[in-house]
Amino acid sequence: MKAIRRFTVRTVLPEPLQPLEELVLNLRWSWHPETLELFQSVDPELWEATRHDPMRLLGEVSAERLDALTGDRRFLRALGDAVEELREYVTAPRWYQGLSDVPAAIAYFSPEYGIAAALPQYSGGLGILAGDHLKTASDLGVPIIGVGLLYRHGYFSQSLSAEGWQQEHYPPIDPDGLPLTLLREQDGTAVRVSVGLPDGDRLNAQVWIAGVGRVPLLLLDSNVEENSPASRDVTDRLYGGGTDHRLLQEMLLGIGGVRAIRQFCRVTGHAAPEVFHTNEGHAGFLGLERIREYIDEQGLSFDEALEAARGGTVFTTHTPVPAGIDRFPRELIKKYFGTDNEASSVPSERILALGAETYEEGDPDVFNMAVMGMRLAQRVNGVSVLHGAVSREMFGGLWPGFDTDEVPIGSITNGVHAETWVAPEMVDLVRQQLTGVVEDGEGWDAVARVPEPEIWRIRRALRERLVLDARRRLRESWRQRGASDAELTWIDDVLDPDVLTFGFARRVPSYKRLTLMLRDQERLKSILLDPERPVQIIIAGKAHPADEGGKRLIQDIVRFTDDPAVRHRIVFLPDYDMALGQSLVQGCDVWMNNPLRPLEACGTSGMKAALNGGLNLSIRDGWWDEWSDGNNGWAIPSADRAADPDRRDDVEANALYELIEDHVAALFYDRATDGLPRRWLEMVKHTLTTLGPKVLAGRMLRDYVRDLYAPAAAAGRRLATDEHTAAKSLAAWKLRVAKLWPGVTVEHVESSGATQSPQLGGTLTVRATVELGGLEPSDVAVEVVYGRVGETDTLVDPSYVELTQVENIEGGRLRYAGEVTLDRAGAFGYSVRVVPKHDLFASRAEMGVVALPPAPTGMTNGDLR
Ligand SMILES: *Cc1c(COP(=O)(O)O)cnc(C)c1O
Repeated sequence: MKAIRRFTVRTVLPEPLQPLEELVLNLRWSWHPETLELFQSVDPELWEATRHDPMRLLGEVSAERLDALTGDRRFLRALGDAVEELREYVTAPRWYQGLSDVPAAIAYFSPEYGIAAALPQYSGGLGILAGDHLKTASDLGVPIIGVGLLYRHGYFSQSLSAEGWQQEHYPPIDPDGLPLTLLREQDGTAVRVSVGLPDGDRLNAQVWIAGVGRVPLLLLDSNVEENSPASRDVTDRLYGGGTDHRLLQEMLLGIGGVRAIRQFCRVTGHAAPEVFHTNEGHAGFLGLERIREYIDEQGLSFDEALEAARGGTVFTTHTPVPAGIDRFPRELIKKYFGTDNEASSVPSERILALGAETYEEGDPDVFNMAVMGMRLAQRVNGVSVLHGAVSREMFGGLWPGFDTDEVPIGSITNGVHAETWVAPEMVDLVRQQLTGVVEDGEGWDAVARVPEPEIWRIRRALRERLVLDARRRLRESWRQRGASDAELTWIDDVLDPDVLTFGFARRVPSYKRLTLMLRDQERLKSILLDPERPVQIIIAGKAHPADEGGKRLIQDIVRFTDDPAVRHRIVFLPDYDMALGQSLVQGCDVWMNNPLRPLEACGTSGMKAALNGGLNLSIRDGWWDEWSDGNNGWAIPSADRAADPDRRDDVEANALYELIEDHVAALFYDRATDGLPRRWLEMVKHTLTTLGPKVLAGRMLRDYVRDLYAPAAAAGRRLATDEHTAAKSLAAWKLRVAKLWPGVTVEHVESSGATQSPQLGGTLTVRATVELGGLEPSDVAVEVVYGRVGETDTLVDPSYVELTQVENIEGGRLRYAGEVTLDRAGAFGYSVRVVPKHDLFASRAEMGVVALPPAPTGMTNGDLR
């Protein structure tokens, strides 16, 4: 019989063991080996059975065992130490506390968080990154408040049918069985936030707090009694349901999220955030709520509020794949933000304009969350150097008139949280050499001193652990597929702890090309079964439940791995999650990645593998495009110019096979007399010393603080002083500039000096006559743009020099002049432009307007010698 209602009864621990509760409730345990060991010692067998979930452990441990522990001096001492250590960790000053002019708090919004396998609130890279961001913020003392949703069924858990077809399960998650506490008023009542809906309804939510070290993570949960059944289901699952459902989730995350933060700060006295970081478009509505606050509470106009909010907002875009970007029908936005749910201060027309795809290829019927995110944030970034460039290209239409290079989207390359992803043995090994903490990112050269036999011993141990874990998972999977134990004896010999091991795990959108390795199945077989230099591959990945194509790819892989001829060398392990991810990145010798370049914005699994002494074999995409140096792994050449996708796959698969056969396997099995692969180990050491400090999330977080959070907080403060004087004047100024801009023209450009017989080192004097159409000279910058020219006279990587005003000529026109040094030989050109200029701008392109001379005057080509 099925229960009609379920809930979790929390254990009452005997008095001496009560500090365990404090430990469990702070997710710091998930990256703190000593605390994990302590949990394990509570009941080692149960610890394994509960898959390292301390909440479940404490829920299921027997009263006798608890009783025994209350008398176990050693245990109690370890418990006391752990609690003391945790208290120290959450209060002592850290890196951030040594900085000045930094925000008092930062709000970080994300639709998903991968903190621990026991808190399944993520689907893939975006969530894992968010989790690593919070943990690293905690380690560095960065005062972030995380905001997300609590999904009652998480994403989904995956198993396989007998035919290898993905099956989805949605086990319910009871918040009472998770390490969460409810946000409550002083009197104990649960805090509520709510968001208005059409027809006078409200979407209500309670707020759970997860302690991620010193970072509070607020998770909104719509499963409360005063909601209608439909509203209770808004937070049912991650990325499930239809468009309306998705929109409601995002309204709750963005609008409800800001309200949750206000409540949290009121109740706890926490400092209010000065910076709001929108992790991907899904959370973008937070900007609307902040605008509403400024209008309703501070009396600003919409445009003033927009400026006030924008300065303190950071937006990170995470994907160039169109399917990864949230786009809603405009009608839907009108339905939810217009009609009787329209906030008088935030008219739906203004909202629609913020998400409008106003560029050439844009769809007029669509509301684009990423576009809104960019309009609501003064600072925008992609997640690798290449992805920054791709994003400037992709969203350049929002800043018309500016070259792609000037589009104000920067990049901060992702990183990974070492303590979460690196095997403890490896952390110890590196620590022995490093003077500082691993997260400090310095002194990695010292890793070169680690004795090679030591590295090899640990690598072997990690590979073996992975092999054993893979066999256990494979057996479980086959049981679920209907096999009996008697049929599964072969699993005892699946995989070999001494064979070169490849890992390949990811979500399964088509651009990641799960099945590229199957392009030539015979060749793959011969690689796997090579008698001298065998290779084994461990594969995992989930397809989105609605993605039939992705499920077919999984089935193709599974069918291949089912073949008795190869099944001991290639396996598919279902239910890719953080626990399996950790096992894989720690145990694999090679991390393989073959996306369609440049669609992988960053990719982080390969970074995790690198920190564990794995080597990367990857298409030059995302982070690998930036940091692959020929000695830390292998770059698969990309045939991204091939017009025919089929041919492209052929070419790239072929290159992949060749690399494996001729380089990867050859090197791994090239052994010295002592059995060690010397050259392989050199590459491992090189990987650790050079990539180690770069791929750490500590490096990433410092970049965010220095390049985005601190400047955003400074801008926000300036805009807010004296009752938002600067925000008000900036808004008025922008309106005036936008209105008068059509009258700004570059009438005439001339130059003298080096144009006759141009020589390297010579100078060129440029003069321009400009009509400002009613604007003040201080409103604009008149610039000469110069440098190398390409074939069609376009300037390549140009430089900019501001001209100075030299005279007023009648009719309101102005003359400007300045000098340019010819610092490069070859084809050279220049032009002049006028752009709006304001000291609160983060970029000259900020307003997206520019005045250029009528082409082609002003362009002089000379061949410099
Ligand atoms: C690291 C990780 C990801 C992200 O991997 P990418 O390399 O960015 O595709 C996804 N899922 C899990 C479980 C991970 O550990």
